[in-house]
Amino acid sequence: MKKSFCTIILAIIFQALYAESKPTVVCTASMISDMAKNIIGDKAEIKLIVPIGGDPHMYEPTPTDAELVNHADLILKNGMTFEGWLNKLIENSGTKADVVQVTKGINAISSLVYENAKDPHAWMDVGNAIIYAENIAEAAKKLMPESSEYLDENLKKYKAELQETDAYILKRIQEIPESRRVLITSHDAFQYYGEKYGIELVSTMGTSTDADVQTSDINMVYKKIRETGIPAIFVESTVNPKLIKQIAKDLNVVIGGKLYADSIGEKGSPGDTYIKMMKSNTDKIVEALSKEVVAEKIDGTGDMKMVYGLLGIIVFLGALFLFIRKKNS
Ligand SMILES: [Zn+2]
Repeated sequence: MKKSFCTIILAIIFQALYAESKPTVVCTASMISDMAKNIIGDKAEIKLIVPIGGDPHMYEPTPTDAELVNHADLILKNGMTFEGWLNKLIENSGTKADVVQVTKGINAISSLVYENAKDPHAWMDVGNAIIYAENIAEAAKKLMPESSEYLDENLKKYKAELQETDAYILKRIQEIPESRRVLITSHDAFQYYGEKYGIELVSTMGTSTDADVQTSDINMVYKKIRETGIPAIFVESTVNPKLIKQIAKDLNVVIGGKLYADSIGEKGSPGDTYIKMMKSNTDKIVEALSKEVVAEKIDGTGDMKMVYGLLGIIVFLGALFLFIRKKNS
């Protein structure tokens, strides 16, 4: 009895020492930290800077973040203008950790907003996520060469899951009638998604959430909805939905749901991992855009029916009036 008690105490001390010796991997965004967890497992402490649900374009680092970055052994970032605040944070923290851009080697799409800049939302193509995963594994192996075999094994498993997810999305998008494969959201987070999975993108904003809303963009959105008769538009989890709600109200289309864009979902939500986020978005898009068009008003035929109806009533009442007057005279 006494012996087993001692063994437990020793085990706890051992575990505490082991935990202390684990390296710290700091990730800027939740998609990256989720991928890192899949590959690194419990071989390192994986920490996140921008909290789940936060907007990495607009993030303002805190003193705690500087502390976190200071203690990091490896920093994983998306890059391509996504984390505009990161260089200053790294500089101020005095960290000596390696900073690895996990989008290294990706075939990047040009930004629609900023000249000579790349669109940062590369994770929206699951094919790119495989490159993210490979970059994460490579950086982790450099940090902990003793765990190389374990990391390779996890990478292999995770890549298979990503491939399955990629195929799932490709297949599901085909279920939407072709003319309705149009995705309208509040910022251009879905350019990579659209290009990969064959859905046209129309956004009310640029690729960054802080871009000014252009009247020409809004006009384009109204025109597109009228032309295609698409039944739904979407809001995003990290962007203010005000404008999209107004458009939906004006044109009598429904809001097809909240899509995860620049963050995975809260724990317990349908998108609480990167893979679940991509599948959940796809399910919402397919379901909303496949529905029969309910809003007749979109193409104006609803309005015209009402006008003809009123005209009919006026003619009928006029005839009735003339008839009564003739009968009475
Ligand atoms: Zn974004």
